[in-house]
Amino acid sequence: MEIKEIILVIEDDKAIAKILTAALEDSYKVIVSKSLEDAYRKFTSFNPSLILLDLGLPDGDGKEFIKRVRELGDKPIIVVSARFDEKEIVNCLDLGADDYVTKPFSIKQLQARIRSTYRRYERHMSPLDNRVVCQELSVDLVSRVVMKNETLIKLTPTEYNLLKFMIVRPNKVLTHQVILKEIWGVGYQNEMQYLRTYINSLRKKIETDTTRPKYIITESSIGYRFCCNEEEH
Ligand code: CA
Repeated sequence: MEIKEIILVIEDDKAIAKILTAALEDSYKVIVSKSLEDAYRKFTSFNPSLILLDLGLPDGDGKEFIKRVRELGDKPIIVVSARFDEKEIVNCLDLGADDYVTKPFSIKQLQARIRSTYRRYERHMSPLDNRVVCQELSVDLVSRVVMKNETLIKLTPTEYNLLKFMIVRPNKVLTHQVILKEIWGVGYQNEMQYLRTYINSLRKKIETDTTRPKYIITESSIGYRFCCNEEEH
């Protein structure tokens, strides 16, 4: 018998929990929790490999769950949030959530997000390869050579650092603050213009059509996502 990955769905809305279960149960074993307290219990006893998390729960805020789980280790968490509240989403991502989907969501999109989150974790756990490949792009992390198809792409050191930071975190939403802090350092978290400028110049070098980027996707008001899946286009 095939052993399925266990997904813990933390959702107090019965109808949504039902839709999620129906959408996922062919591929995964789905466990549902309707409260934070029950979720902590099931998290410990079932050891799920991924968590879908609602934020508004009867006994507290889903963000508490992110904090608690991040203290325990590295389990993928996708926030399934009722409305697009950018501040709330940024808070969740900064606490360590991996991704978010806003309701109403498309089942196909949710399934794609789950698959790419799993892939990212698998890649993370395999021994570090020198070369990262994403669609037609490849980056050699030792020689710092960047190629698109067979063409060499010349980058400035900052463009390279930015590309490297994003490409080793494929399909993950990276907030403006996280990128600024990583590339420019503490104290630069609010220098949005730096980031915009470098994203634009990097796009000019790696994207075929900068008006419809397929690598560096803008997550409006939140940050950027480096896309490595053909399926999300
Ligand atoms: Ca809720």
